[in-house]
Amino acid sequence: MADYYVNKNAQANGDHEVHISTCDRLPDRENRLYLGNFTNCHAAVREAKKHYSQSDGCYYCSDECHTS
Ligand SMILES: [Zn+2]
Repeated sequence: MADYYVNKNAQANGDHEVHISTCDRLPDRENRLYLGNFTNCHAAVREAKKHYSQSDGCYYCSDECHTS
């Protein structure tokens, strides 16, 4: 299990990246939204999409869910 966060700010391509709490690329506290504790990034991205329809796994910590 891991704590997942989504970046409140979109990337240049419009994606809101989903990170685990230990990722080097985790946004600053004011720029991230806590999603919850999940067993995998797929569940976390599903939750993130309730907030931001264009959400995607981080290339570094959630490569399995990184699509673009
Ligand atoms: Zn990450």
